[in-house]
This record gives sequence, structure tokens and C-alpha cells, in this order.
Amino acid sequence: MITSFKPPQRTLMGPGPSDVHPRILEALGRPTIGHLDPAFIGMMDEVKTLLQYAFQTENALTLPVSAPGSAGMEACFVNLIEPGDKVIVCVNGVFGTRMIENVTRSGGEAIRVDDAWGQPVDTNKVEAALETNPDAKILAFVHAETSTGVESDAAALCALAKAHDCLVIMDTVTGLAGVPVKVDEWGADAVYSGTQKCLSCTPGISPVTFSERAAETIRNRKTPVQSWFLDMNLVMGYWGPGAKRAYHHTAPINALYGLHESLVMLQEEGLEASFARHKAMHEKLRDGLAEIGIGYLVDEAHRLPQLNAVMIPQGVDDATARGRLLNEFNLEIGAGLGDFAGKVWRIGLMGYSAREENVQLCLDALKAVIK
Ligand SMILES: *Cc1c(COP(=O)(O)O)cnc(C)c1O
Repeated sequence: MITSFKPPQRTLMGPGPSDVHPRILEALGRPTIGHLDPAFIGMMDEVKTLLQYAFQTENALTLPVSAPGSAGMEACFVNLIEPGDKVIVCVNGVFGTRMIENVTRSGGEAIRVDDAWGQPVDTNKVEAALETNPDAKILAFVHAETSTGVESDAAALCALAKAHDCLVIMDTVTGLAGVPVKVDEWGADAVYSGTQKCLSCTPGISPVTFSERAAETIRNRKTPVQSWFLDMNLVMGYWGPGAKRAYHHTAPINALYGLHESLVMLQEEGLEASFARHKAMHEKLRDGLAEIGIGYLVDEAHRLPQLNAVMIPQGVDDATARGRLLNEFNLEIGAGLGDFAGKVWRIGLMGYSAREENVQLCLDALKAVIK
């Protein structure tokens, strides 16, 4: 007979999911109530307010999509794109290539601006693309590329888009709560994130926020959004504003308790303190890695503190080393992707994983397996 599943106790230092704080695990087990229960609706409103804080926005259309980060990505693209729309897409890693897929599958025309993996998006190339495509409707880019550990200059990219009258779609799945994300100050129009990276929550929910300009664009579409489930015009009837909520789908009730708890914890710590903690843990890891001869893929100026892409030392077999980390130390780190497979490890310091004990464990374990 198959019996209950008892997962091993791991330390998660890969590209997500990150370690989930015990307070969040406890919140997930609280009693399930109805999704239209007034108590639940009150909690939904708090989640929206807390997400506005995390995203640094006053956007009314700020809510958690009931599906993982990839669904938040799709929600931004399918709601803003109508057939024939031109979208400039910056590609400097895996998630940029997924944006291209989203544009073409939504009936849009993707104008691709490529940069080498491991490099940030080149604002000069983007400016040139905006100039040669004055009819482009949207600029899409990944703020924090999890595949390479690179942060691009989101403020500059948003400013370029504004100057060319384009809407901005920004992926900050890995950015949110780890590095500054200033949705209103930057003027990003459709922004999505995930719960299992620096929010340290369980996977499966995608916080999104849409500017008034984006909301207006969605309300005034000539064609219906191709996805019924992700159509924000319908989702808004469920997530508010206002007390009257119509059934659209059943929210993942307990998972939202978890998100609520993680956002309460973020508010308690404060955004600035959270960024500072990620940075401090990154520096501690970087210094320890330098001592054992492990260097970084990305130039210091563009490194994400929460995703450390580091070079696998000569003579060390990737799969064997990661296997030993998992089996002997219960430690998960991430493999390299694309051209970096077998050459790079991705060490995550996201949310609750960004703490002293984890950095020390990672350094001690790596020392043992690369000897
Ligand atoms: C993890 C991630 C996603 C996808 O999120 P899922 O929850 O895995 O669907 C999208 N973009 C970036 C940059 C990510 O790191």
C-alpha cells in the first residue's frame, strides 16, 4: 500500500523554490474557509495592499494570479497583446525566450533584441529597436534573469519605453523582495512575480500588477483575451475592487494564507532591510567562494545578490558534485542552463534561504565535494 509522503528535509539554495519559513508552513495548515466567506474576502484585500507595498505601487489592479510565475507571465502578455501588435522583446536568457513564445502565441509580432547570456540588456540596442519600430506597442524585458544571475537596468528600460510611447511588461519573478522593484517610480505597466523565490513561499501563485494605462488598454480591447482563465476583465470581478465578488474560479485558499504570511513578514522586516540582508549574504558567500577558488560568471556591477551564477572549478564533475551535495548535505543548488550547462552552478540566496547558516553550509559542503 502507498503511504503518506514524507519529504526529506532539504536546504534549498537553487533558483527556486527557496526555503519556506516555518511561519508560512504553519499558516498553510490553518482551517480552510469558503472563498466567498467575508473573512476570506478581508484577507484578499490585505494581500492586495501588501502586494502594493512589495511592488512599490499604488496600482489598483494588483493581485495574485492563482497559478505559478509562468501564468503571471502569460497573464501580462495575453491581456495586453491583440493580434498584429508589435512587441520588442529583450532576450538575455531563458525567460526572455519564453517571452517571445508568449508574444507569438498571442498573435503578436515579436521584435527580438538579443544580448549574450550573462550580460544585462543593452539599452543602446533597445533604443535603436524602438527607433526603427515606432509602431511598437510594448517593450518586454526580464529584470532579474534567473538563468544567468544578471540584473538589467529596469529604470532605464522603462524610461526608454515611455519616451517612445510603449507599454512595459517586466518579469521580476526573481527580483521582487531581493532587489529594489519600483513599479510606480519606474513606470512599468504590467509586472509579474512568483511566490517561491525571494518571497520564500510555496510555489504556485503569481503576484501581478497593472498600471492604470495597462488596465485601460485591457478594458478597451477590440478582441477578447484568448485565455478565459487569465482574462483580467473577468478576474477583476472576483478580486475586486469593492465588496461584491462574483465567482470566477476558486482561489487557492490555503496557499493564499501562506502568501499573506510571507507578505506580513516582508512588511515586518521592511523592504530595505530585506534588500540589505540579501546583499550581505551574497557578499559573505562571494568572499567564501573566492577563498576556495570559485569565481562568478557575471560582472560585479550586474550581479543579482539572490542568484549567484558561479564557475564550476576545473576537473569537478557537475552532476557528481551536485549529487553529493544533495545526498550527503541535503543541499540543493541549481545547474547551469543552455551554454552554461556543466560549466556553471546557480546558488540561490532567496528570501528565507538568505541567511548565515545557509551560506556557511553551502561553503562547507562545496569545500568537501570539490576537494
Ligand atoms: C521562476 C521564474 C519564472 C517562472 O516561474 P514559475 O513559478 O516556475 O512558473 C519566470 N521568470 C523568471 C525570471 C523566473 O525566475
